[in-house]
Amino acid sequence: MNDIFGCNLAELKEALADYKVPAYRARQIAEWMYQKGARSFDDMTNLPKNLRAALSGAFSIREPRVKDRLDSADGQTTKFLLEFADGTAVETVLMRHSYGNSVCVSTQAGCNMGCAFCASTLHGMARNLTTGEMLAQVMTVEEMLREQDGHVNTIVIMGSGEPLMNYDAVLGFIRLMHEPYVLNLGYRNITLSTSGIVPGMYRLAEEGLPISLSVSLHAPNQELRATLMPIARKYPLTDVIEAADHYADVTKRRVTYEYILIDHVNDGEEQARELIRLLQGKLASVNLIPINPVVERNLMRPAPARIDAFERILSRHHLTVTVRREMGTDIQAACGQLRNRHLQGK
Ligand code: SAH
Repeated sequence: MNDIFGCNLAELKEALADYKVPAYRARQIAEWMYQKGARSFDDMTNLPKNLRAALSGAFSIREPRVKDRLDSADGQTTKFLLEFADGTAVETVLMRHSYGNSVCVSTQAGCNMGCAFCASTLHGMARNLTTGEMLAQVMTVEEMLREQDGHVNTIVIMGSGEPLMNYDAVLGFIRLMHEPYVLNLGYRNITLSTSGIVPGMYRLAEEGLPISLSVSLHAPNQELRATLMPIARKYPLTDVIEAADHYADVTKRRVTYEYILIDHVNDGEEQARELIRLLQGKLASVNLIPINPVVERNLMRPAPARIDAFERILSRHHLTVTVRREMGTDIQAACGQLRNRHLQGK
């Protein structure tokens, strides 16, 4: 059955055209689905009974179900495993920060970017997620928070998958969250992270949305980057930086470069200096992420002193730099770990 969860108002009106219902009904249905948590037409008590019956026979609403939920010991991180009608499962993570509640959304089941350090890519990509499947991740968290008088405040599109390889569904999702009949979420509260899909980065700049862009850099030169991220062979470093500069130019928004620190791979003094040469003078900041170790590939986390030293070199040269605080390691919140456990169990 056709799942209408994820339709915007125009798409809903189109879907309802055959049922000759007045236009305001589409808005009522949207509010039921996106604000009042309705999971079936029977919940929509202000719709005529015969209409509810007719629509129930034609459409389904929000098929994803919560399959697993894990809370970290400190209570700051909650991880959900959502399962869709076809058995595909993805992870969603809620992080409770001092500045608000942030949800990390997956855009694909698995990933085929093949990054050496990432658990999401180990089993390849099963499929793209739909707009509704991304929104269902956010609504699952929002509904849980509402019970505690909280809300989702920021979205990071940094879960499994490469968002710019699923462009239309991701943009549909971003626009939908901004709608007053959904979450009314400001675009500035949304961050999209990409491995550097250059055409997608240009396309995103043309949308005219002030969302924040993060670029997964992870190396200060093309040669090293290509050994860690196969996609770098298709979209070389200089082109990625040019596209990010263009994005900053057009949107006047600071681009964040994510840089995983891997012991004795990319965390040396020379690499810090290379990074400075690469980014100095740009409207950019660097987010250093001590790696979640991938023991099988011998990619380990640097000692704290090495992390500090790397950070200090950057900040001494006036790069804006932050070190990502680790959350939820006790609940396998690191990218793709819970889903992999689920796949192994199958
Ligand atoms: N495909 C997109 C978004 C998903 S990855 C991208 O590449 O940006 C989101 C972030 O998690 C990326 O910066 C990615 O490099 C990082 N990440 C992946 N595996 C990691 C690991 N083992 N330790 C720390 N960060 C990791």
